[in-house]
Amino acid sequence: MRRAAVMVGIATLIAGVVAAQGPAGPGRGGRGRGRGVQIQPGEECPAGTTLVRVGVCQAPEWPVPSIVDYRPASTLVVAGHAVPKAKFPVIDIHSHTGPTPQTLDQLIGEMDALNIRTLNNLSGGYGAELKQKIEYIRTTKHADRFTLFANGLDGFRDVEPGYGRKAAAQLEADVKSGASGFKIFKQTGMDTLKKDGTRLKINDPELTPLWETAARLNIPVIIHTGEPQEFFHEPDMHNERWLELALFGDRRQYLNPNKVTFEQLVAERNDLFAKNPKTRFIAAHFGWHANNLGLAGRLLDEHPNVVLEVAAILYDLGRQPRGAHDFFMKYQDRVLFGKDTYAPAEFPYYWRVFETTDEYFDYYRDYHAFWNLYGMGLPDAVLRKVYYQNALRVTPGLPQTGWPR
Ligand SMILES: [Zn+2]
Repeated sequence: MRRAAVMVGIATLIAGVVAAQGPAGPGRGGRGRGRGVQIQPGEECPAGTTLVRVGVCQAPEWPVPSIVDYRPASTLVVAGHAVPKAKFPVIDIHSHTGPTPQTLDQLIGEMDALNIRTLNNLSGGYGAELKQKIEYIRTTKHADRFTLFANGLDGFRDVEPGYGRKAAAQLEADVKSGASGFKIFKQTGMDTLKKDGTRLKINDPELTPLWETAARLNIPVIIHTGEPQEFFHEPDMHNERWLELALFGDRRQYLNPNKVTFEQLVAERNDLFAKNPKTRFIAAHFGWHANNLGLAGRLLDEHPNVVLEVAAILYDLGRQPRGAHDFFMKYQDRVLFGKDTYAPAEFPYYWRVFETTDEYFDYYRDYHAFWNLYGMGLPDAVLRKVYYQNALRVTPGLPQTGWPR
């Protein structure tokens, strides 16, 4: 539909430019008069033009910069509050960073400055690799600062009858080794093929022993299903993730060889949640519903075994601070803090959105969002829940002592 509208618009442009320029053509004309393109109600301006009056589009007189280069500086003068350090200690439930002998001291210094008390590495692996990571953590003076989730056997490759039981046994061994939870990567359910060549759906009954084992061992399953919904659509001029799709080939889910849609993935994931009510699930990245808080609320209402975490969706909370505030008030026991990419310079944006009522401040990545952010002004009781209390409840394997009361 959108594409059809653009095509009509382009036809109008050609006809309109000819009519508007007349015999004189576009002179020096500092005010750009005479270059207008008429459009009908419901039509959009043709490519290369912008709306200047009702029903009239016009092309700029200067060459138009690309969206990569255009970085307008806001002239808004308004009080702002940098928040370099979170108000309460934080558990980052969605990290992929763990300490090594080379990075430990620097990591601890950065985490202390940000008030991150525990970094939970979701890339724990399994078996010997996982064991080795946990054993290293235990040899350090900071064993209570780092935890790991297991990832399951062989990346769910070549699933066939019997896989579920084997993988569940591996998970049990990994939890015995010290894993605090189980992480399902996005490829599982979207890209990974079964031995028979079909897509492994996340609600495939073969995987049931895994969810049952997680419930019995009292560990959460953090599950990344899907991607931002715009990744599943062509990068046309209406796609708000155009730049990201142009930058990163591996995010172009509209080219997914399995031809799976966002809606399909969400339905399969929700079926998994419904069929395993005793298993606690953490829907990573807000279940990719941060741009539709009504849907996020329904997910939580319908599935009491599910909580959300906020990794890499700050741009959606920060563009609807009042709605996000009300959501966090209502579901204050159901949201965990997570960041995904470990970048010390980026965490303070999260603290600022959660803790302040600052207005219209910059975000750190244009490819996520071309807009600015606003603070949600969450009260202390909710900040504590989001920063650490909810994670401690959902993940008993996290260090449970030494938190503020
Ligand atoms: Zn991640």
